[in-house]
Amino acid sequence: MNASAAGSSGPIVVAGAGYAGLHVALRLAAKLRSQPAVELTLVDRHDYHQVITELPRVAGGTRAADAVRIPLQDMLAGRVRFVQAEITGFDLAGRRLLTGAGPIGWSRLVLALGSRPSDFAIPGLADRALSVYSASDAERVWAAVSAALMAAAAAADPGRQRRLATVVVGGGGATGVELAGELAEILPAMASDRGLAPGRPAVQLVEAGPAILAGSSAQLTGKAARILSDLGVQVRTNAVVAAATEDGFRLTDGQLVEGGVFVWAGGVKAPELVADSGLPTGHNGRVKVDRYLRVLDHPEIYVAGDLASVTDPRTGHVLPPLAQVALEEGETVARNLDAELEGKPLEAFTFHDKGFVVSVGTRRGVADIAGITTGGRLAHLLKDAIEWEYRQSVRHLRGWDPAAW
Ligand SMILES: Cc1cc2nc3c(=O)[nH]c(=O)nc-3n(C[C@H](O)[C@H](O)[C@H](O)COP(=O)(O)OP(=O)(O)OC[C@H]3O[C@@H](n4cnc5c(N)ncnc54)[C@H](O)[C@@H]3O)c2cc1C
Repeated sequence: MNASAAGSSGPIVVAGAGYAGLHVALRLAAKLRSQPAVELTLVDRHDYHQVITELPRVAGGTRAADAVRIPLQDMLAGRVRFVQAEITGFDLAGRRLLTGAGPIGWSRLVLALGSRPSDFAIPGLADRALSVYSASDAERVWAAVSAALMAAAAAADPGRQRRLATVVVGGGGATGVELAGELAEILPAMASDRGLAPGRPAVQLVEAGPAILAGSSAQLTGKAARILSDLGVQVRTNAVVAAATEDGFRLTDGQLVEGGVFVWAGGVKAPELVADSGLPTGHNGRVKVDRYLRVLDHPEIYVAGDLASVTDPRTGHVLPPLAQVALEEGETVARNLDAELEGKPLEAFTFHDKGFVVSVGTRRGVADIAGITTGGRLAHLLKDAIEWEYRQSVRHLRGWDPAAW
């Protein structure tokens, strides 16, 4: 498709400075050095970018929350105008983003607002369980675990002590597995520090489906389950949470899973404000896009990251909410915005799967890369390398030369 008909040199606004939005802004900032008239604005509620893939380490106390908050001023070249504001809605007809800092007009808008944890309307869940979707969330998990262990150490009744020292994680996807592994590895030392027997704390992982890491190969799932078992995590599969009460997670079969801390990692959905936007949405409220990542019937709006509902033509399935997908989509959106400015053809999005890596505890992990499944120390090193490489790439993009693009 040739973009010249849609060509525009008006303001470009990127909503969200996460994996997708930051990538679009950094790529475009460099490209627009030769287009000084085009205004590029990035909007986020925070003045920092969060390395969300490292949050389980913050929740487990092995990484400081500030270490996963990267100040945007350290990353954005002067070419990008940054506005720190809460985005509250969209004026699609007037082409304005509505924010706490006032409306921001756009000629092209990029929506990259990520996801919110989904409680699937399970009664009590939102009030009773913590989540891990921001550095502050992860800090709260760490603080709650720490407080629960202190309370357990002070409890005289062994039953009460056992219950308080148990962390229950709901959802056996990658986030739940990483969190459960991290906590299981760290809890014995934490318990000792608080005067509790190192063997007293327990971690339970509750998964509604028949296996953890749904969608992965049986080999990968088996390796992850073995490491979790080795760490003492009790994994309950086919365990569907019906309600969260003061006493614990009540399963559909009537069983009560008791604990001192409850964390929900059971799934995500699009932010609520998108549901009220009038934009076409699909599964989990994600926005439907065409092959160029433009909203259906709104070619002036692109979507990238978790918020985009993109079907992989090779599998027929919607791509999962993953950082690597968000980065690739951000790349395509930046290229297409540039193509519009240059009057060149737009590029259809194609996902190049680099594989799947999950850490399980502080030393081991599992990985499926290029058809090879591995579990153990190597997979954990791979995860470390991916996170290190991501941080390097962000730094590199700031001073990046578009001539090499
Ligand atoms: C604990 C955890 C671990 C994960 N680990 C992995 C992993 O190992 N590998 C992997 O590939 N993926 C992983 N993911 C998934 C990955 O983090 C997401 O797919 C990725 O963050 C999506 O990028 P995004 O740009 O769409 O959204 P985000 O990175 O979430 O960015 C969205 C941005 O929009 C901003 N925003 C949202 N709403 C508003 C508003 N109303 N006003 C202003 N600003 C707003 C937010 O502040 C944020 O900066 C993990 C997710 C979690 C929760």
